[in-house]
Order: sequence, then structure tokens, then C-alpha cells
Amino acid sequence: MSNTLMSNYGRLPVQFSHGAGVWLWDEQETQYLDALAGIAVCGLGHAHANVTDAICRQAKKLVHTSNLYGIQQQQALADKLTALSGLDNVFFANSGAEANEAAIKIARKLGNERGLEIPQIIVMAGSFHGRTMATLSATGNPKVQVGFEPLVAGFIRVPYNDIEAIKKVATENDNIIAILVEPIQGEGGIQIPADDYLPQIRALCDQHDWLMMLDEIQTGIGRTGAWFAFQHHDILPDVMTLAKALGNGMPIGACLARGQAAQTLQAGTHGSTFGGNPLACATALAVLNTIENDDLIQHTQTLSAYLLREFKQQLGDIPAVVDIRGKGLMIGIELNQPCALLVQQALDKQLLINVTADTVIRLLPPLIMNQTQANQLVTVLTDLIKNFLLNQGK
Ligand code: PLP
Repeated sequence: MSNTLMSNYGRLPVQFSHGAGVWLWDEQETQYLDALAGIAVCGLGHAHANVTDAICRQAKKLVHTSNLYGIQQQQALADKLTALSGLDNVFFANSGAEANEAAIKIARKLGNERGLEIPQIIVMAGSFHGRTMATLSATGNPKVQVGFEPLVAGFIRVPYNDIEAIKKVATENDNIIAILVEPIQGEGGIQIPADDYLPQIRALCDQHDWLMMLDEIQTGIGRTGAWFAFQHHDILPDVMTLAKALGNGMPIGACLARGQAAQTLQAGTHGSTFGGNPLACATALAVLNTIENDDLIQHTQTLSAYLLREFKQQLGDIPAVVDIRGKGLMIGIELNQPCALLVQQALDKQLLINVTADTVIRLLPPLIMNQTQANQLVTVLTDLIKNFLLNQGK
């Protein structure tokens, strides 16, 4: 059979026909527990009534007009996001990579306006920022870059969670304009930096007049048990990017900024045909209101503590389990060996998980998961991991 799709995805042998909450059903009506939420997208799970209603209501009225005109839903969503984050202004895009492109362009433009010879952005090893040319160049994973050279210039890479490395760059280079960093590296293997890492980056940015740019595409919208991961600290970034869970599956990205960074992109310097259209914005507004009204940030913290405790109890004593870590419902179980095979083995047990950075089982369940469902996740997954390690040992 000819396949008319490009071959750029390695897909699992299943397709889903419908979902409800944390559940998905395939075409044979087999039911799966979704502990991945479309890679941190469906925070409210599948077919949430508020999201579905918002989509249907808006689709019946108006889907798209373009940014040649005012868009009331876009303004309302910007008001909500700025109120929740403390940042000043928002640019809307359609994906995470595009949100990061906007952030990179802000940094470049400001650097050029300040007369920097070659504006440079400090980025991290192990990071992931997207698949466009600029964002893959910012990404700290050679697998994402190989074959796509020449890369976009203007990025200086340092190890993650290493403040001294940033200080060293500061002494060696007068052209830095910004630091772009994930509060927790998601694709990089749920890497959680030291508690004072982000505050120290903030201090360095203040000291050198650099922009602190946070990629909260995976960590944002409640995922870590706060609206945004930076809110676990007493700091404000200058720029923050969002996507993924903002639309619960409706494609939308956002680049938020404050102060000078918020004034950098003027008419004609950046734009998007679809970005922030009425349908995407009405949906995202329903997502944010639901998280707020249903107290899902608090629920995320509670469920996180429960899941981490349970996993540690069940797996903590196994030598091959190197670490069990997480913030909110962004949880990593690291083994001492590659474990990509577990994804298929979990699928065979009707459980959706992911393995990233070769050895880290990544869980990003919907924020609406309840304790019974969490128990099922723990039971099925701990069994799978134990069996996997037994079989590998043979
Ligand atoms: N930044 C981070 C931290 C991500 O996790 C991702 C996607 O996984 C992206 C950027 C890219 O987002 P998108 O795939 O929507 O372009």
C-alpha cells in the first residue's frame, strides 16, 4: 500500500477514534489510559465539555478574519494571560516553535537596536525549542540538527543547570542580548535544575541588561503545579513562550513580554496569518477559565505528591531505577539503561507513556486525572518497569 504521508514520524501501530477525559479509544473500541496527554497538550483531557462548547460556539459565529482587524477574543485572551503571568503584552502564533521564533526575533531586534555587533543568545545543552531553522539551531540536541546545516548563527551553548558557565560567557563576550532556557527540560529528560538556578539567571540578566527568556511551552498552563513554572520562584522573566496546553489541542502559541522587550516588535516587523484567530483564542480562554474555576493548579500539586510518593514506594529500592523526579504532573522515571521498548509494552497494556533522552520514562498526564486513574497508572506502569528490568537482566 502506498503511503501518501512523509516519513518524518515513527508512529506506534494504533490510531484513536475518540476520547473522554483521561481515556482514548482505538478503532476496535479498545480503551487506553492516556498518561501523556498528546505530549503535554490536553491538560483538560479529551473532549472536555467546556472546550468542545467553546469551539462549537465560536465556530458557528466566526473562525478567522486575519490580523488586519481587531479580534475581541484575542484581546480577551491577552488580558487573561498578562493578568495570570504579570507580563505586559502578548503576540499570538500557532505553535511552540513559532512562539520561540518570536522570542528570538525580539532578542535579535533589541540587540541590533542596541548596536551589538553580533547579537547572541545563550542557550542550553539538552534543550528543545522546536523544529524551525532558528529553533532547531537553539536546540541543544545534535539529533535535531544533523543534516540541516548550516544552522542559524547567534546562539552560544552552555551546560544546563550550570550558572558558572553562564558567568564565564559573560566575561568573554560583549554581544550577549538574552538567555533562552526551559525552567525544566522536558524533551531533555525531565531535567529539574537547582532551586536557585532561575533566580540566579534572573540576577545575571539584571546585572548585564540581558533578556531572561523562558520557554514554558511544556511547563506552562498549570503543568508543574503553578500557572507558569517561573512562579515557583519570586521572579519575572522578560519574555515567556507558551503553546501546547494553551489550546488543549487547538493549535495556538504565544510569546509574552514585558518592558522594553514588549515594545520591540512594531507594525511590519512580525506577524502571522492565523495567529490568534477567534477560534483558537476563544478555545484557549475556555481552557484558562476551566483550570481556574476547577482549581486544577491545586489538584495538580496534590496528585503530583501522590504519584511521586507511590512511584518512589514501588520502585525506589530497585537499583536499576536511577531517579524518580517531577514537578507537578511532569514526571520522569530514569532507568540505568535505554528503555524505549517500554512505550510499545505499555501500549500493549493500554497505557500511553513516552520515553525521552533514551532512559527516562516521561509522564505528562492530563491535569484532570483523578486518584483512581492515578492508581491504575501506578499499578500498570510499575509492573511494566519491573518486568522490563527482569527481562533485560536475563
Ligand atoms: N519548546 C519546548 C520546551 C517544547 O517541549 C516543544 C515541543 O515539544 C517546543 C518548544 C516546540 O513546540 P511545537 O512542537 O509546538 O513547535
